[in-house]
Amino acid sequence: MKITVIGSGYVGLVTGTCLAETGYHVCCLDVDPRKIEILQNGGIPIFEPGLEDMVKRNVAAGRLHFTTDVAESVAFGDVQFIAVGTPPDEDGSADLQYVLAAARSIARHMTDYRVVVDKSTVPVGTADKVRAAIAEELAARGADIPFSVVSNPEFLKEGAAIDDFMRPDRVVIGVDDERAAEIMRRLYKPFQRNHERVLLMDVRSAELTKYAANAMLATRISFMNELANLAETMGADIEQVRLGMGSDPRIGYHFLYPGVGYGGSCFPKDVKALVQTAKENGHTLRVLTAVEEANEVQKLRLVEKVVARFGEDLSGRRFALWGLAFKPNTDDMREAPSRVVVEELSRRGAKVTAFDPVATHEAQRVMGGIAGLSFADNMMGALDGADALLIVTEWKMFRAPDFDAIKRSLKQPLIFDGRNMYDPAWLREQGFDYHAIGR
Ligand code: NAD
Repeated sequence: MKITVIGSGYVGLVTGTCLAETGYHVCCLDVDPRKIEILQNGGIPIFEPGLEDMVKRNVAAGRLHFTTDVAESVAFGDVQFIAVGTPPDEDGSADLQYVLAAARSIARHMTDYRVVVDKSTVPVGTADKVRAAIAEELAARGADIPFSVVSNPEFLKEGAAIDDFMRPDRVVIGVDDERAAEIMRRLYKPFQRNHERVLLMDVRSAELTKYAANAMLATRISFMNELANLAETMGADIEQVRLGMGSDPRIGYHFLYPGVGYGGSCFPKDVKALVQTAKENGHTLRVLTAVEEANEVQKLRLVEKVVARFGEDLSGRRFALWGLAFKPNTDDMREAPSRVVVEELSRRGAKVTAFDPVATHEAQRVMGGIAGLSFADNMMGALDGADALLIVTEWKMFRAPDFDAIKRSLKQPLIFDGRNMYDPAWLREQGFDYHAIGR
């Protein structure tokens, strides 16, 4: 079986490379010639732990190659994965233009049976639109070629993407015909050597499963953030509450961390898109509407604490900020809470010196224009003479910093920690004025 992956971003590149790793021959396509050039020259255009070596290994073995040539990529794969972006439209719904363009490009070039797999996160009903787009293009060519459309949403997490793909909790496959079901079952055999992980279901259920999972995770975060804010007012410690809650197996410990809100390319857009899908179909998702609202408010939580300490006008102040990426182990800056934090500090007249171990380059691209923002190339360098340290992303390297050096570098020993990284009692003993979330 040969495989084509359309879109060589976080999902497409990981999918293609992991499939090649198990022995498949894979062609990765992208419309962005810059990305393909980097890949063809042995680099990778994103940061994802372990990915670069895996790409190199599979290219060297002759199982993985990259192209911008659509005719070549359509001819190559019996299975054509669509893994292009589905960014939010103005009303919050998922913009399907890239998915449908990819589908049409397959239809324009295919000469025999193809399985077209939606791996992008797409609203319920998209497979029907993909099917219609392909049928229309084929009709325009006067071609009568069989094809199947399958929904196979991706659950990988950036930062742990390879492990997630190689050892999935589950592989959700929405399929309406037996021919494609058999091909997809066979395709995922290498990823379930010890037990069956494929959940076969109808296409619409598969499409909705992805949104339901992300919406649930976002809900846990917003729920904890609101409770954290309450705990703070009531003199409780949300970290103790978190442990007390999580020990109930019906609740579990995962995804109960309070902080400065969720970001990234998935939760914000997927929550909005699900709310919008519901609205278009006569439903109001009240819980999810509140999840989104709570998250927007939470992104400003750290700045509110800074303002409570320094006053509304922050001109003349300079803050060190650790962590720009929306979460550790990625360079992804899409909807990162750091962007809101820095913008708000800047709007109030403050200067910010930011450090991130891998996202600086991407941050310079998306935040470069913000007044008063500069970037440090090491974590301690950001601190020099700053009024306080703000922590926005919980990179491992921030877990046990040299607190004496921090004290010496800052104007005063003052930390605003948006990720609850440290023990408040111990830090206070060390002479720090320490402000965290919910404690
Ligand atoms: P991305 O922006 O990193 O990559 C998308 C790529 O598709 C880009 O390189 C773009 O140039 C390319 N592209 C666009 N139109 C194309 C076309 N017609 N032909 C070929 N290439 C084309 O996006 P991503 O983060 O990989 O996300 C892709 C999809 O997967 C989205 O729907 C997203 O919601 C979903 N998803 C993302 C994650 C994640 O963690 N990033 C996890 C699960 C699901």
